[in-house]
Amino acid sequence: ILTLANVQQSYSGVLALRGISLDVAKGEFLTLLGPSGSGKSTLLRVIAGLEEPDSADVMRLNGHSIVGVPPEARNVSTVFQHYALFPHMSVGENVEYSLRIRKVAPEERRRRAEAALALVRLPDKYGRRIHQLSGGERQRVALARSLVMGPDILLLDEPLGALDERLRLDMQLELIELRRKTGATFILVTHSQEEAITMSDRIVLMRAGTIEQMGSPRDLFASPATEFAARFMGFEN
Ligand code: ATP
Ligand code: MG
Repeated sequence: ILTLANVQQSYSGVLALRGISLDVAKGEFLTLLGPSGSGKSTLLRVIAGLEEPDSADVMRLNGHSIVGVPPEARNVSTVFQHYALFPHMSVGENVEYSLRIRKVAPEERRRRAEAALALVRLPDKYGRRIHQLSGGERQRVALARSLVMGPDILLLDEPLGALDERLRLDMQLELIELRRKTGATFILVTHSQEEAITMSDRIVLMRAGTIEQMGSPRDLFASPATEFAARFMGFEN
């Protein structure tokens, strides 16, 4: 569904991405794993179109080049760690936001918002205010808001980082379930090897703007290709 070849990005002379090449299959749950500063968020922003890379040999989504294509013209949604809900709007208004700016009719908006809220198991929260929700519920609203457009790819940048341990485990299972129910492709950023191992079909281990190794959780865990991979997968972080 997504092909990247030799994507480079720098910030004032510092290379954040040093020629990333990656193929993502439709429906795959892919995790970008790596230490702080390795370029995970930068890569996600490039895929979302929030950032135009300095150069790329290929960037294709669903068979079409996305070089220079703005974020709203890509069928991709992003969920961030600090989920940036509009605090003055209700849950329903938050979830419907992207439909409203696309001038979808009110009844249709409502129907799709209710469906998205049901997907994240918040069926009766449509009229609630954001400040009346727990952290986990807010995170689910953020997920519903991203799912409401029916994206081909859901990009998740450390979405569970703000949650406590217990909730994080629940949400890991829910994300797996959501992927199953929606059939969407998920690309998750995390620096937690445990999270990556639990959820992914495939892990892309990043280090200083490059891909150190990629493969199934089992591959990386059982056959780390480098000492860095061995250390990083060894739960020492
Ligand atoms: P973390 O786990 O801490 O979120 P990350 O893997 O997501 O790290 P990135 O945010 O992609 O890392 O950053 C990669 C490199 O690019 C870092 O050296 C960072 O300082 C630099 N960088 C990222 N965004 C910017 C920016 N907007 N301006 C300048 N430098 C940036
Ligand atoms: Mg980051």
